[in-house]
Amino acid sequence: MKYTKQCPKCGSCDILYAKGSAEAYGAGSNIMCGATIFSAVDVDRYICGNCGYVEHFVRRNQMDALMKSKKIKQVE
Ligand SMILES: [Zn+2]
Repeated sequence: MKYTKQCPKCGSCDILYAKGSAEAYGAGSNIMCGATIFSAVDVDRYICGNCGYVEHFVRRNQMDALMKSKKIKQVE
């Protein structure tokens, strides 16, 4: 949906965007990579306004923080 502007499940073009954020006490849409919110990675969401399907994206410039995190495991 981020790239096609269309829902892959129902075909709707009614797409909503919710910007990721890291707020106090871990609130917001994010992944905690360390002990504090300063090491949180924001997760942006694209939501289909028709069927409710959601896509999640981490921004490319924050991918390094995920790769280096001891809390996040690579799928083998
Ligand atoms: Zn949909």
